[in-house]
Amino acid sequence: MAEKTVIDVGTTKIGDGSLTIIAGPCAVESEEQLCTIAEAVKKSGAHLMRGGAFKPRTSPYNFQGLREEGLRLLSIAKQHTGLPIVTEIMDANQLDNFEKYGVDVIQVGARNMQNYELLKALGTVRKPVLLKRGLACTYDELIMSAEYIIAGGNEQIIFCERGIRTFETHTRNTLDISAVPVLKSLSRFPVIVDPSHAAGRADMVAPLSYAAVAAGADGLIIEVHNDPERALCDGPQCIRPDTLTDLVKKLENITQAISQ
Ligand code: PEP
Ligand code: MN
Repeated sequence: MAEKTVIDVGTTKIGDGSLTIIAGPCAVESEEQLCTIAEAVKKSGAHLMRGGAFKPRTSPYNFQGLREEGLRLLSIAKQHTGLPIVTEIMDANQLDNFEKYGVDVIQVGARNMQNYELLKALGTVRKPVLLKRGLACTYDELIMSAEYIIAGGNEQIIFCERGIRTFETHTRNTLDISAVPVLKSLSRFPVIVDPSHAAGRADMVAPLSYAAVAAGADGLIIEVHNDPERALCDGPQCIRPDTLTDLVKKLENITQAISQ
């Protein structure tokens, strides 16, 4: 197989054997909310910040994101903390604003993993794409979606396992831990895990993160909120900033233990 791809984002390298932590709220809600969380993310030792400006919601009556204003707030949080930003794109017509506000990594959500026109547009971009696995998509389908981006000339892909649909109801999705070793053996791209959407429950974020790191994940993307009860999106799965700080420390120990 071709040499492993290492993705450079600011001073962080994803896929070089280190563990990359991406953390932040599900949705950007306000400047105060975002900057409070961004500072906590920075203090925890995480490397990148996430936050959704365009939110794919099951119901059209739920909060849809602050859209361009959300991108602007992300750029302010980036200026304050120096943390590169990761945010989801839902339509190719948003690309100009992703450029304007300095988005560092473009996330393609599970629901858009097979939006082939969007993937083709991302092939023309010179930014890393964090490609999340669809709710009911196979590894081969995920790899073919990446091919759409690669065919356009963009080879900076990060795969993300975020849980798949199963018959189980106690968790929002079922984390398919096999995705980590299988995708790493089938492709040259880094593989990260999203324990937040996989579980849908804050109390399971730590154990699923431990499992992902032990299985060889290159990173994690974790939802954090300073006031989860009042979060406009995905509150039940958001951990608090203190919990993130503890988690980052424990994960460093696990990373060391498995590299021995
Ligand atoms: C998200 O990251 O906020 C999100 C909507 O994730 P997914 O596309 O995996 O459901
Ligand atoms: Mn979310």
